[in-house]
This record gives sequence, structure tokens and C-alpha cells, in this order.
Amino acid sequence: MIIMDTRIREFEKIKIQKYIPELDLLNNPVLNAQEKEFLAELYGFIEKELDPEFRKLEDLNYLVEEPTQDKKRDIVINIMKRLSDKGYYSTILNTDEYEVGRITRNALIAYAICGGRWSEYSERYIAGNYSVEMGRLSGGTLYCNPVNYASNDAQKEKFLIPVAREGKIAASAMTEFNAGSDIFRMELALQERNDNIVAKGKKLFITNGMIADFIILYGRLNNGQLAAVVVDTEEQQLKNFRSTRVRTYGMTDAFVSRLIFDRVELPKENLLQGHGLDIAFHQLTEERLVISAEALGDTMKKLLYSHAYALQRRQFEQRLHQFQVIRFPISQKIRELNLLISAMIQYVRQLDKHPELAGSKLMAANTMGLKISSTELGFESSIHCFRTMGGRGFTRQYANEIGLFDPFCMIHGGGSNYVLEDSESRRFFKYKPPRREIEDTIPKVDY
Ligand SMILES: Cc1cc2nc3c(=O)[nH]c(=O)nc-3n(C[C@H](O)[C@H](O)[C@H](O)COP(=O)(O)OP(=O)(O)OC[C@H]3O[C@@H](n4cnc5c(N)ncnc54)[C@H](O)[C@@H]3O)c2cc1C
Repeated sequence: MIIMDTRIREFEKIKIQKYIPELDLLNNPVLNAQEKEFLAELYGFIEKELDPEFRKLEDLNYLVEEPTQDKKRDIVINIMKRLSDKGYYSTILNTDEYEVGRITRNALIAYAICGGRWSEYSERYIAGNYSVEMGRLSGGTLYCNPVNYASNDAQKEKFLIPVAREGKIAASAMTEFNAGSDIFRMELALQERNDNIVAKGKKLFITNGMIADFIILYGRLNNGQLAAVVVDTEEQQLKNFRSTRVRTYGMTDAFVSRLIFDRVELPKENLLQGHGLDIAFHQLTEERLVISAEALGDTMKKLLYSHAYALQRRQFEQRLHQFQVIRFPISQKIRELNLLISAMIQYVRQLDKHPELAGSKLMAANTMGLKISSTELGFESSIHCFRTMGGRGFTRQYANEIGLFDPFCMIHGGGSNYVLEDSESRRFFKYKPPRREIEDTIPKVDY
């Protein structure tokens, strides 16, 4: 069979050749010495070990005639293992090994994997991969944190160590066909029967779902209460369990899946302790910060591409950057990016220093605000990049390389922005009138 590479040969690769200090996190005065040291080592690792794998993943996008899913799966599993060996997959168990706090590390890793970096060593841009980071977040944080929070020692040994320490792939399964933003409507049944839990129902949009060894599955017990149970997929061979890929136009390496549990029998020992929503939400603040860091890293990447293309492309005998309509949004977004990075770094440091802040409603609200602003910034930066690219932005060749559609997904990932914005605005306008004012509004009646 002839394998057809769909790339157009006349299209030149966009070369990012110019170092922009404002777009280099290592250069950002807001980071301290330990954080910079951690970040520098991480960038070295990404350049040496991950970049060749990221390129293989990208190349597979252009071979339309060839089934590429299995190849991608092997590459992604291998990347997670490498991340784990270096302590970059989950940051939950290795707190003593680093001077930098675990949530700060989690955020720096997210930023670096999404954004990549212009490497002075090799004088080229080492691109990141947003969808691989989504997989890291799902397994390393969205699975590991709640399992660590709600499990006993035996469960930790069986379900947490293989993922958090050995880099097995894991997933978190909440969303269903009828329960999207409104997750209280979850319907998947977890029926208690003798020593077993029988899981029946479907899940949708589950990152890592079809490559996961372990899944934290949320559903309803016989009495209607929401609960969480760990599913060992037995390397995806578990009886009465099926997983298929959801074909998306962004996040092409994140293995976003649809899962079917057709009366899957699970031992009762796999049930985690506590209410399902408390288990899911206790780590919400950390999740919002890591998603913010991802979006900011990705914003940096989009800005680098817009900037490079605006420098290189000539039309009307001028370089594109000579047109204000192209140049202004880029500089405006660089400014906004650095403001949000400072906020993000302050929040992660505070949370590391005062872990009790994880339970603070105000901290949760502030990080929700940061998540909305950062993912929207990523979204807008992608739109600007798309506009700057002209027709080329419309081709797979450039859209894949730049990951133009990835930030579109993150407007919905981790709780839709619009739902969050709506509840935030309602909270701001909640108003309890003082008593006197209430009395004033009671119509006065003369008797
Ligand atoms: C790439 C990707 C990966 C994902 N990974 C996972 C995963 O690993 N695990 C998992 O459980 N889920 C995952 N999800 C699912 C994600 O959490 C849901 O897509 C999200 O909760 C939205 O649900 P929905 O798609 O059903 O949209 P809907 O709930 O149908 O919402 C549609 C639109 O209406 C808006 N809307 C809904 N209600 C309100 C409201 N009250 N006020 C204002 N606006 C509102 C929403 O913001 C959205 O724009 C993933 C999604 C994506 C895109």
C-alpha cells in the first residue's frame, strides 16, 4: 500500500528563530531561583526526550490512508512512563524530593508541556503538545488526587501506586450523554449486589478512556447517592466494558473516548469512601490552576507562531507585522499573558504554602476566574493566529503543527466556562437588602 502524506511540499515550515524574552517563562522575574532550576531541568527533558516523540505524533496526523491509532497509543503510553520516571506525571507522592511545592510543580509542568520553548541550545523552537498534557492531567491529577483523598491503605497500594509512581495510564469518568455541565444529573448506576458493584451506563468525552488501566468512575448507588469506584480495566479487556475513540478536531493525541459499562462487575473493595461529588470536587482549586497553566503555556505557543509568521510572510511588499491590525493583537496578548502568569504563580505558591486554602471558597472562586480568563486568552490567541496565517491556518499541515484547535476544547474542559461565568455573575449580584430597606418597600396602608 502506498502511504500518502497529505502535506503540501510548497508550504514551508514556520521557523521560529527569534528569541522573545517576554515569552520565556525562564526569564520571567516572577519565578524564584528554585522554580527556575526546576523549570530549566524540565525544559531540558522535554527537548531531549519528549520532542522526538511529539514529532512522531504530529507526523502520524498526515498519513490519512494508514490506521495510526495504535501507533499513537504506544507513543503516548511511552511518554507518560517517561514523565513518571522523572516525577513529572503525578506530583502527589514525591513531595519530599523537591524544593518546589507540588502544586507549583504541577502548574510549571503543564505550562512547559503545552508551550514548549525556544531552545538556545539548539536554536530552534521545541514545540509542546497540549493533548499529551491533557492526558497527563487526567491520569496524574484528576485520577490520582481523588483516589489519594478517598482511599484506604489497601486501595492506595492497588490503585494509586501503579499510576502515581509507575506511570500507568488512568482516567476520570464523570461526563455522560445527559449529564454534561449539569453533572448532578449523572445516571450511571453502581448497583450493590452481594460483594460486588455492578456498573451500568455510559460515559462520554473521557480523556485517556480507551488506553486507561484504571478509571475513577462516578455514578449512583442503590440509594441514589453519588459515589466513586475504581475500575481496573485489565488492560482494556475487562468483561462487559467497551471503549471507543471520539474523533475530535483538536486534542488529537488525548484519546478522548466514549465508554460503555454493560453490567460490569467490580469488587466492593473498589468503592472509595465518601460522597461522589466531594471526592470529585475536593481538588477543584488545583485542577483549575493546572488548566490555567496549560492554557497560558499554549497561549505562549500561539503567540510565538503568530509573531514568527508575521515576521516572515510578505504581502503588498511588506512583512505582515508592518500592518497594525496584525501586530496589535499580538502585543496586547503578550501583555495579558504575563499578567495572568503572575496571578497563576502567586496562587500556586500560596496553595503550596497553605494547603488548607484548598478548602477556601474564595480561593476556588479566584482560581475559577483565572481559569476562565486563561482559557479564553488561549482561545483568542488561537483565533488571532488563525487570522494571521490566512488560508494556511485552514490546512491540517499548519493547524496540527500549531495546535490551532486545541484551545477550542479547553473552553469546555474542566467545567464549561459559560456555566462558571453564569454562576459567578449571579454570586456577585446576590443581594440581601438590609431590614430597613425591606420595610420601606412594604406598601403603607392607611387604616
Ligand atoms: C477535550 C475534552 C476532554 C474532556 N475530558 C473529560 C474527562 O476526562 N472526563 C470527564 O468526565 N469529562 C471530560 N470532558 C467533558 C467536559 O467536562 C464536558 O464537555 C463539559 O462538562 C460540558 O458538557 P457538555 O459537552 O455536555 O456541554 P453542555 O452541558 O451541553 O453545554 C453546552 C453549552 O451550554 C453552556 N451551558 C450549559 N449550562 C449552562 C448554564 N447553566 N449557564 C450558562 N451556560 C451553560 C455550556 O457552557 C456550553 O457552552 C472533556 C471534554 C473535552 C472537550
